[in-house]
Amino acid sequence: MLAERGPDAKVVAGGTDLVPQMKNGMLRARCVVDLSGVSQLRQLAAANGSGLRIGAAVTARTLERDPGVLKTYPAIAESGALVGSVQVRNLATLGGNLCNAAPSADMAPPLLALDAEAVIAGPKGSRRVPMASFFLGVRRTVLARDEVLVEIHVPHPGPHSGGNYRRHTPRRELDIAVVGVASQLTLSSGVCTKARIALAAVAPTPLRATAAEHVLEGHRVTPELIERAATAAIEAARPISDQRGSADFRRHLVRVLTHRTLTTALARASA
Ligand SMILES: Cc1cc2nc3c(=O)[nH]c(=O)nc-3n(C[C@H](O)[C@H](O)[C@H](O)COP(=O)(O)OP(=O)(O)OC[C@H]3O[C@@H](n4cnc5c(N)ncnc54)[C@H](O)[C@@H]3O)c2cc1C
Repeated sequence: MLAERGPDAKVVAGGTDLVPQMKNGMLRARCVVDLSGVSQLRQLAAANGSGLRIGAAVTARTLERDPGVLKTYPAIAESGALVGSVQVRNLATLGGNLCNAAPSADMAPPLLALDAEAVIAGPKGSRRVPMASFFLGVRRTVLARDEVLVEIHVPHPGPHSGGNYRRHTPRRELDIAVVGVASQLTLSSGVCTKARIALAAVAPTPLRATAAEHVLEGHRVTPELIERAATAAIEAARPISDQRGSADFRRHLVRVLTHRTLTTALARASA
């Protein structure tokens, strides 16, 4: 259908982004292809070997409540729990959040921090794309017009690994992130072997704060080192000023939220 209809056709999953965009004239579609009946896209399962496969149409509410996600991938559950309200989360899908490609998309940073991959399918077959390369710009992804996102593969973080996602919003609910930060730390004998920090709402796309990750890797993680990494994370941010906050305020939030998420990630990795 997508290949035949070209730009006239749009995919809909939960509709919580698409329907408001059609109503306010931001987007026009003559034909809407509904994915909500495709049961394979709603599967949430252990991957072959290890890790997690999350179907594109799995809802934020499912991710927020799934015991396996809460235990091993808490940052994913935390990001799902922050989307909209319960009513919105019962419709909102992971695939919709990623394919809508808002800079503030809450469910993207934990997937970048976990080195997840997108599985994409179209008439020419299927391909895998690292989440870090999935976003091209504001509301732009690597998906061609005739492709759909099928699922997300999340590698198992391994033992002694912990993650956390937090965001700042002026309102507690039904608001979008002024800044969002996900951190994931893996330890071996108390030394950080892998650090991942991903930021939302501070650039056209969600992105990794690699300089901050390098501050942590190969070292014992102390409160002082966390502070240094939090300050280094600011380097990755290219924020704008808008009605939700100035660029300077966003840089300040990057430091504060990186500090908080690393502190929680460290506690979880050490537990
Ligand atoms: C009141 C309200 C509050 C919200 N709060 C938040 C929030 O706090 N945080 C946040 O991040 N978002 C928020 N959102 C935005 C939205 O709920 C999420 O982005 C949601 O995850 C979108 O999922 P969906 O299934 O509803 O997407 P849809 O609206 O169905 O689709 C969104 C876009 O993705 C495309 N698409 C969907 N699935 C696929 C697929 N499998 N393959 C290819 N393309 C696909 C569609 O064509 C469309 O362009 C909010 C929205 C509302 C209305």
